[in-house]
Amino acid sequence: MRLLLLGAPGSGKGTQAVRLKDHLQVPHISTGDLLRAEVAAGSPLGLEAKEVMARGELVSDAILLGMLEDRLSREDVAGGFILDGYPRNLAQAAALDALLTRIGQPMDHAVQLAVPVEMLVERIAGRAQDEGRADDNPESVRKRLQVYEEQTAPVIEFYREHGQLTVIDGVGGMDDVFARVVSALQPVHPVG
Ligand code: ADP
Repeated sequence: MRLLLLGAPGSGKGTQAVRLKDHLQVPHISTGDLLRAEVAAGSPLGLEAKEVMARGELVSDAILLGMLEDRLSREDVAGGFILDGYPRNLAQAAALDALLTRIGQPMDHAVQLAVPVEMLVERIAGRAQDEGRADDNPESVRKRLQVYEEQTAPVIEFYREHGQLTVIDGVGGMDDVFARVVSALQPVHPVG
């Protein structure tokens, strides 16, 4: 199964992706994780991305697309994948669509985890204490939420218009949200 997880920073995509990966037995591709690995490795790409990420802005579309093409050309995605963190703007959505069409692997589901903004801020603040991510400081969090509103929210509409979107209530315990996502992935049986 090829599954796209959509949602704001703090909406729980990463948490659910890890569980879904075990459940579906497919790899989890997080563009945030891929970028953080480049930063940690000190690669040229990582050096370029580091400051942009720390500010909470988007890394260039060209870098992201190259990284994603690379990742999707690996053998382990033959049986599907969970994509998290991409697309983050309409240009990326169009590029992903074109890429998946070209490799003959269209997305099966696009699931949005819907969480009210006050709760997002609260959750990210909690995570900042636990994980100490460079971009979990208040200023960068505000920027990430603004980028999400302005650039990523239209992506949700893109999938809605393509008839692929399922919106899941992302408020509640991790187990409850997981159960909701899993039930949304069940094949729809025609009535009668
Ligand atoms: P969050 O969803 O909590 O903001 P991510 O781990 O998904 O965290 O992303 C962290 C940062 O990595 C983003 O703020 C951005 O700078 C960069 N990034 C991740 N995915 C993309 C993308 N698709 N396009 C551009 N930048 C990205």
